[in-house]
Amino acid sequence: LRLRAEAAGNGAPEVENMVIIGSGPAGYTAAIYAARANLRPFVFEGVSAGGVRGGQLMTTTEVENFPGFPEGITGPDLMDRMRAQAERWGARLETEDVVSVDLSTRPFTVRGTDTTVKAHSVIVATGATAKKLNLPSEQRFWSNGISACAICDGASTIFKQQELAVVGGGDTATEEAVYLTKYASHVHLLVRGDKMRASKAMQDRVLSNPKITVHMNTEIDDAYGDDSAMKGLHLRDAKTGEKRDLPVRGLFYGIGHKPNSDFLAGQIALDKDGYVVVEHGGRTSVEGVFAAGDLHDVEWRQAITAAGSGCQAALAAERYLSANG
Ligand code: FAD
Repeated sequence: LRLRAEAAGNGAPEVENMVIIGSGPAGYTAAIYAARANLRPFVFEGVSAGGVRGGQLMTTTEVENFPGFPEGITGPDLMDRMRAQAERWGARLETEDVVSVDLSTRPFTVRGTDTTVKAHSVIVATGATAKKLNLPSEQRFWSNGISACAICDGASTIFKQQELAVVGGGDTATEEAVYLTKYASHVHLLVRGDKMRASKAMQDRVLSNPKITVHMNTEIDDAYGDDSAMKGLHLRDAKTGEKRDLPVRGLFYGIGHKPNSDFLAGQIALDKDGYVVVEHGGRTSVEGVFAAGDLHDVEWRQAITAAGSGCQAALAAERYLSANG
């Protein structure tokens, strides 16, 4: 396989050794490892995440928990560095979305909006998208009050010793609420219905925590504030329609994620929520096809865990190619 890649020189080989789909931490890390193994991976970077390559971190400001950056680094800067590292080692990058794949025959076929590529192995790393409420002021306060990740943003100085709100009634929202009590002066959990979907254990933890108030039957109409900060939420009682304001400095979304796996339906095994089902090393139900990052990870959803699984998928794919070359 190395010979095949080398023989192709700078031109595109008829069949790629490896196609990587996605340009978040998982995709770029897989590209770095595959490129360093001289496989010259072809990367569909995708533009789905807000119309730009680089994945979810392109939508955030400071990343304070990625090892190696003690002063923190902005999300776009971190992703530009990963991209440059992949390119330096010979990954070939195409900023294009994949629209369909055929994984039923070998070599596999990956179709982008403009480019179609055949490949001996494929790594899918198309991430997941946090569900949003689409509040009228959401964009205005995004990353300066409204966040989709408590672990990422909870420790930010803007939230320290402030009253915060979490929306959602499942395990994610209840876990975020408990997590935020480390930093916040008080946390309000806003549940739309009259029941929480979270496990009994999580409900008990929330209800017994003196720093958390649960508001049932509560809808959010919008956030309010001024140019410097979000100051609170306009709420509405889902049953009576009664309106009231809740002064909070931050709102965290805990209403779930949607994995970006629509184009994989019917091609590899997905779970009921659309996450790719994987075994050790990111192996999917189709031999030679691997998944990495938030696309299969319902639990951790961090840049470093995504990068780690991108590394595993690339090494597993390299082994697969060596064994089947
Ligand atoms: P993603 O980053 O989601 O990347 C997926 C990639 O796939 C994108 O490039 C996308 O364009 C591409 N793609 C999607 N569909 C297609 C397609 N059909 N064809 C081709 N490409 C496609 N984590 C931290 O560790 N620290 C933080 O501080 C932090 N802050 C965050 C702040 C925000 C606002 C958000 C939303 C998340 C944050 N996270 C943070 C979580 C972190 O961003 C994710 O865990 C991580 O980005 C997941 O990486 P990934 O590579 O799996 O997927």
